Amino acid sequence: MLSADEALERLRLGNRRFVSSGPTLERLGSHREREHLAAGQHPFAIILGCSDSRVPVELIFDQGFGDLFVIRIAGNIVAPSQVGSIEFAAERFGTRLVVVLGHSRCGAICATLEELRRPSQKQSRNLRSIVDRVRPSVEGLLATELRHNEEALVETAVRANVRASASHLRRGSEVLEQLIQSDGLRVIGAEYSLESGRVDFFDRT
Ligand SMILES: [Zn+2]
Repeated sequence: MLSADEALERLRLGNRRFVSSGPTLERLGSHREREHLAAGQHPFAIILGCSDSRVPVELIFDQGFGDLFVIRIAGNIVAPSQVGSIEFAAERFGTRLVVVLGHSRCGAICATLEELRRPSQKQSRNLRSIVDRVRPSVEGLLATELRHNEEALVETAVRANVRASASHLRRGSEVLEQLIQSDGLRVIGAEYSLESGRVDFFDRT
């Protein structure tokens, strides 16, 4: 299995290929490759990304079948089932890199900011459960000068939310904490730009 640093380098190179020439078609996989993978998987990275249709994780990292263990949920939030999925992959497959991947102009972030400014009574309980997870990391920004600049506000909120999710994964699970301390697991935060296609790995503590 690749180390966290090697896995990060592979993602970085894959994204560079995607930006410069689009996804490599061979990565989409042959029948033979699929049959081979039926026997077992060894994904080299775990990605917690947003469900947004414009952020197809395997494509933006130019990876194929069996390469990435992907969890997608609106706003790349961390709830118990996401933590459980990540624990499962890290323990079962020995995967050593977890990336929380946010993206520019995220609808879940915009919806949360909207809800904080004009609370609605009609929002479904289920949708509210997502907004409530984003809220703590973006709420404070509305009290700053950023509130006068919508674009900068959303940009900052997207990154704050990624940082919060990454930090939750580093500290909110005994299993992951243990793997970080003694087995080289790393959790890092990144942002995908809808405009340029580039991924910036900005939270690498
Ligand atoms: Zn999104």
